[in-house]
Amino acid sequence: MAMTQKYWDPEIETMSRKDLEALQLKRLKETVARAAGSPYYGKLFKELNITPDSFKSLADLSKIPFTTKEQLRTTYPFGALATPKADVVRLHSSSGTTGTPTVICHTKKDLEAWADRVARSLYGVGVRNTDVFQNSSGYGMFTGGLGFQYGAERLGCLTVPAAAGNTKRQIKFITDFGTTVIHAVPSYALRLAEVFRDMGIDPRKDTSLRIFAIGAEPHTEAQRQRVEEMLGVKAYNSFGMSEMSGPGVAFECPEQHGMHLWEDHYIMEIINPDTLEPVPEGEVGELVLTTLTREAMPLLRYRSRDLTRILPGDCPCGRTHRRIDRMKGRSDDMFIVKGVNIFPMQIENVLLRYAEVGNNYLITINPKVGGDEILIELELKDLFTDDYGQLERLNKRIVSQLRDEILVTPVVKFLQPGSLPQSEGKAVRVKDLRKLS
Ligand code: ADP
Ligand code: ZN
Repeated sequence: MAMTQKYWDPEIETMSRKDLEALQLKRLKETVARAAGSPYYGKLFKELNITPDSFKSLADLSKIPFTTKEQLRTTYPFGALATPKADVVRLHSSSGTTGTPTVICHTKKDLEAWADRVARSLYGVGVRNTDVFQNSSGYGMFTGGLGFQYGAERLGCLTVPAAAGNTKRQIKFITDFGTTVIHAVPSYALRLAEVFRDMGIDPRKDTSLRIFAIGAEPHTEAQRQRVEEMLGVKAYNSFGMSEMSGPGVAFECPEQHGMHLWEDHYIMEIINPDTLEPVPEGEVGELVLTTLTREAMPLLRYRSRDLTRILPGDCPCGRTHRRIDRMKGRSDDMFIVKGVNIFPMQIENVLLRYAEVGNNYLITINPKVGGDEILIELELKDLFTDDYGQLERLNKRIVSQLRDEILVTPVVKFLQPGSLPQSEGKAVRVKDLRKLS
């Protein structure tokens, strides 16, 4: 493949909306036909009298009821399997961040299509077969491991399946093998940067790192900027979920403004999670996805519980697949204190803008008579001062800005760097002690 080519698959990535929608409708009908072979959808379609012929246009998608995480848990493990088990070559499960994990089965073709989507995503931000790709995310059941592994191999990169953890060893790989592209969760990206510093290595000068794919958990623009500055890379947001195979569902392009959701493989809807009605384009709601090419376990109108919006307008990069905005969080992440709905990312957005603030924080909600308390434990970058007056002034500034953002006054406690527990997988940002009692 020529080095100058901008798209992995120009015909698909820049297809006219009309052709793309025609392709979606064709694939939707095929998906309905395949899904009818699973015990779960087979029964549902029979009850509702749904067949591939029920779909004259994409608007007819609304004839199908939503599929929820709870339903997937009740069909666990094989109730939504639409092919004979003999055709299944691998299964994966979700991380189980919010409860019992769900299971997704894959045929050989499913795995190939998945690798293609990841390859397309990486190629789009300039990754080529001359790159050394290090995957510093968990392997095993977590889809960020094998998902990126096969995608980068499909692209022809020299891959380093480092997996998560053992940060000094990660750094040795980066310097020894000349790693140019890396994938990890955002909290781990910052951890890498800290350990580089402790080891006296400047990743901006002493390594060949140039691209960082960060995803699998919510993060703010401020966090992306930190990753870019500390490591001297361009960082691109990567969105996926195991129910939709894994990474490679939506990915930023070089514009770094929203993630193109691969609409030849998925139909996306954004709904109001309370009324279940579609929201007007550009408004935030819950992302609902339908697989269009999956064989083993097609999922229709799957409610992700992730909150985002479709960015209106065309992207200057020329791709026609619509973009979703940086995730606002999961609907389950939201907590209510003193009657106000709060998302952890609103808090992160304020915290990480302060240069003195380190990369790790923990939000604890303490039940209290007269109004629950939000305690934010916050690591400072280094002990930049022993002047208590200065620390107190910084604390007051942060508290007041947080109050403006979340409308509740939190308690902010400064900690030394390295005091909070570090997770190798997805970071735990909120501890709600009200739920434990
Ligand atoms: P679990 O839902 O148990 O964490 P997964 O490993 O399948 O299991 O994770 C998928 C979820 O991770 C998504 O539904 C979303 O909440 C989150 N996620 C993935 N990528 C991103 C991203 N780029 N930004 C924000 N959240 C993300
Ligand atoms: Zn673009």
